[in-house]
Amino acid sequence: MRIEKLIIPTPFPVGPINIYLILEDPLTLVDTGPKTEEALSALRLQLRDLGIIASDLKRIILTHTHEDHCGLAGTLQRESGARVYVHEWEYRNISMHRETRVNRDLMVRAGVPPEQLEEMAGRYELIHRFADAVEDVEAYRDEAEFVFESGALRAVHTPGHTPGSCCLLRESNRLMLTGDTILKSITPNPILNPDPLDPRRRFPSLGEYLVSLARIRDLHPTILKTAHGNDVTDYEEHFHRLVKHIDDRLTRVIRMVPPEGATGWEISMQLFPNVRSINRFLAVSESIANLDLAVAEGKLYLESNGRDVYRPRHGVLHSFSR
Ligand SMILES: [Zn+2]
Repeated sequence: MRIEKLIIPTPFPVGPINIYLILEDPLTLVDTGPKTEEALSALRLQLRDLGIIASDLKRIILTHTHEDHCGLAGTLQRESGARVYVHEWEYRNISMHRETRVNRDLMVRAGVPPEQLEEMAGRYELIHRFADAVEDVEAYRDEAEFVFESGALRAVHTPGHTPGSCCLLRESNRLMLTGDTILKSITPNPILNPDPLDPRRRFPSLGEYLVSLARIRDLHPTILKTAHGNDVTDYEEHFHRLVKHIDDRLTRVIRMVPPEGATGWEISMQLFPNVRSINRFLAVSESIANLDLAVAEGKLYLESNGRDVYRPRHGVLHSFSR
């Protein structure tokens, strides 16, 4: 199976994105790049070098629905008639009925002040312009097989970065295309999202991410082709580094929580004091993901009363003993 890496520019701080072309029947693109003129012409140029034009595409598989990954799916589908596939938990992010707003309920519960919420929501709307809704989308599930002439890619649902994030595994040589789930030199942000199974709740993104990392480890991948930066070829080591990094951050977050308690917003201001707008949204996401994991592990205590306030566990025990 011939897999070609295409490097597409994005307007986002993360830099260019790697998307992958499976040069086999049916001709398939894994992720697309954002909806910008620069991205589309970079894509056309690199396809041309491989003897392909965009209208030859038959299939587009999305690893998740962030704009740098899915932005051109609508454009390419209109041009080629390619079928577009996305994990069922992100179907509505990209279908014609997509929600393009920041989840205000979750932000209010996190203690985000109203003016900050407006700024984040405004930035979010701008980012959504880098992707179109896609007219004809098919949802796939964990273990879905995408069959090619000489083999198949299997979907491995690896929630965490987003609820519907997936990797694609080629069983014969245990090569994986990882989207943003595994990146060579950055830890993907566990983005704040509603739980697809119960939208009133937050998705437990960091806890799910740890499970996904372990699941990938069980598959013994040989080479992981990432969406940003280089391949990962030493997953066992990479796994341990990531888990240690996550554990250190979790310990730091738990220590920041004062006896009287703090909201996700307050912890984000301590953890990342100098960031604004969309980066502030990522900071809030990171903070809440850690706080929720600490609660799940019994290290913090959560009180919900319109706003979610996290308290140290010993504080709770202390008040019981009084
Ligand atoms: Zn992403």
